Parts: sequence; structure tokens; C-alpha cells
Amino acid sequence: MPELPEVETIKEDLRELVVGSTIEAAEVLDPALVEQPSVEEFTRRLGDVRITGARRRAKHLIVELDSGDALVFQLKIGGQLLLVPPVEEPRTALMLVLYLDGGRRLFLRDQTGFTRARLLDPEELKARLSPLGPEPLEEGFAVEYLRETLGSRRAQIKPLILDQKVVSGVGNIYADEILFDARLHPRRKANTLSDAEWRVLYEAIRKNLAAGVEHRGTTVRLYRDVLNRPGEHQNYLRVFEKHGERCPEGCKGEVVQEKVSGRPTHLCPGCQRLSGGEEEQRLTFA
Ligand SMILES: [Zn+2]
Repeated sequence: MPELPEVETIKEDLRELVVGSTIEAAEVLDPALVEQPSVEEFTRRLGDVRITGARRRAKHLIVELDSGDALVFQLKIGGQLLLVPPVEEPRTALMLVLYLDGGRRLFLRDQTGFTRARLLDPEELKARLSPLGPEPLEEGFAVEYLRETLGSRRAQIKPLILDQKVVSGVGNIYADEILFDARLHPRRKANTLSDAEWRVLYEAIRKNLAAGVEHRGTTVRLYRDVLNRPGEHQNYLRVFEKHGERCPEGCKGEVVQEKVSGRPTHLCPGCQRLSGGEEEQRLTFA
């Protein structure tokens, strides 16, 4: 599903193409889309409102309206937000149409049907966003935060960095890339990481997410931007869904896929050793 870089790209597209437009009417084509409020109220409150801004928090896409409401999307694996024109009108898997002034329409489609939307007043929005952890590309995100928050946890490192209360915006694709980049086995227990490993993990989180943003997201299957263009970061992935291929670091090992905490996980067992902690700790304290 869209992670930080993909939602960031869509947000930037909305800022460039849609902010300043008025939503004249909304048509809900799949009632399962609307989590909050009722479909009737959602449609009513989306009539004749101006879009004043677009922002992202974690994987939430937030469209700000002059009514004070925020239209909040959680795009799931097939979720696409497409601007017609210039994009040709999509015909299938439609969940929502926003009719904009000037004859343009914003279509939300999702072939998997899991995307959800909420229309929230400022208090509701604040409550919705408050449990989320820090934004990893913002200034306040520091290696000390990671180490202090997770350093005594016995849980495996992969599910911890996927936890949106810990770090905002990391999903399954970037998690595998981050852990490979940091040479950390996804099953390593957080409390076995050395200071040096926390530093490397921190750098890898920032580096991989920033690269994803720069490349306008990763299109493994269904992700598209608002103009229906795929991202480019899939060309830079090193382990995600590369199982059976040689290790990209040339360690003579092979990338494998295993389930970690229920998620398909891709790693090079040669580069990402489970027992790495002791060696690293010796280096750190030498
Ligand atoms: Zn390797």
C-alpha cells in the first residue's frame, strides 16, 4: 500500500493541481469507503467547499477545506486518486467522485476496495492523528528518539519500525529495504542493537524514504500519482520481492522471502545476520 513517499507524492500533486479548486459535489459510489460520518452527511458536507490545502501525516492524505473540515484518505494497496482531465475517465473500481469547478473531476478508485475516507472536524482530526509517531524526514526525528523508544524492547525490529506509533509512514516495502541497507536481520530483537546499529538504522530510514520521495514513489503493482503515472523507485529496490536473485551486495548469498510477524519479508541472510549484535557491540565498546 502507499507508504510515506507515495502519499507525499500524491499530496504534492494535489497542491500543484487541485488546491484552490472548489468541490461542487461529491458522489459516493462505494459506501464502504466512508468510515465517518454517515454517507449522507459526508456527501452533504462536501458540497460547495473550497480546497485550501493538502498535507500528509504518516500514510494519511489530508485535504483541507474552507469549511474547517478535513477530508482524510487512507489509500490502501490499490488506492488511486486520479484527476480527469488530463487523465482519461476510469471506469472500474470507483469509490468516490469529487466534481470540481471548471469541469474537472477527482476519481478515487481501488481495485482491492480497502481504501477508506473520513470527513473530520478539527477536533476529530487532532484525535485521529495524535497517536502517530514522529515524521522520519522532519528535523525533530533523531537517533536518540529511536534508541530510547525501542532500545529496551524485546520485540523484533521489523514490526517495530512498521508500527505507526513509533515511526510514521514506513510500510512493508521500505521496511525491507531499510533493514537490508542497515544490514540488520528483520528478526533481530531491538534490545540487542548496539549504539552503532541504531545510528545505521536511523540513517537508513531517512535515506530510503527520502530516495522514495525523490523518485516519486514505488510502483510494484498498482500505485499511480494523480496524473496516473507510475513512480520510479521500483528501479532502485534491492531486496523487496527479489527472492531467488543474487544478493545485490555480491556476498554470494541469495535474497530470500520469509514471513516475519505475518508479513512477507525479503532479506539476504548473508548480509543480515541474526547474531550481528555481539560483534557490533564489541566494536562499539572497543
Ligand atoms: Zn548479501
